[in-house]
Amino acid sequence: MNIVDRGFKIGNVAAMTPSAVRGVIIHHFGAPFSYTIENAQRDHSDVRRNSAGISSGIGYNGLVDTDGTKVQGRMFRQGAHARGYNGNHFGIATPGNFNSAKPSDVVLESMAEFTAWVLKQANLPVNATTVRGHRDVGSTDCPGRNFDMVDFRRRVQKYMGVTNVSAKPNNEPSAWAKATWEKATKAGIVDGNRPQEPVTRQEMAAMFDRAGLLDK
Ligand SMILES: [Zn+2]
Repeated sequence: MNIVDRGFKIGNVAAMTPSAVRGVIIHHFGAPFSYTIENAQRDHSDVRRNSAGISSGIGYNGLVDTDGTKVQGRMFRQGAHARGYNGNHFGIATPGNFNSAKPSDVVLESMAEFTAWVLKQANLPVNATTVRGHRDVGSTDCPGRNFDMVDFRRRVQKYMGVTNVSAKPNNEPSAWAKATWEKATKAGIVDGNRPQEPVTRQEMAAMFDRAGLLDK
């Protein structure tokens, strides 16, 4: 996995070692896509200053650009992205406003891979405490109502490998499949469990049979 260094200057902020990291917090910029990562770096360097009057640079620890490129922010130094959580949480942000737009698959997958990488550095599992949206820890709608954190955690799990995945079975179907899955459960075609798991040939035959396709 490559995290590109675009040469952003970061001020003299404290280190946050991977072992100190308690979780990842996800952000959108809450601005049109035309507001780029470079814009954010510029604004944090030139306009916003910390209490010592020093330009600290972009407040996020990592970023994902609209094409999926992973970009270094402060990385393992204290960020400035979620009040009360900056000392031990890694903030990852991406351009756009997901109250109006929808995050692309490319961006979601890249953010998920980045998040999994951070969790592995910190030796943390994926769960609702270690992977949160900004809105889960502060009074904000960031990363936007179209950013589904449940779906996102599932994407993160994919990149963690089987050894570090939460033991809790995942009984939540994807948003696009939810209505069909519920219909199929109600009709007795499936048992309502493990909607994200692959199906065997014998299970498929049983489903065809339950659907009445074999008794014609
Ligand atoms: Zn935010």
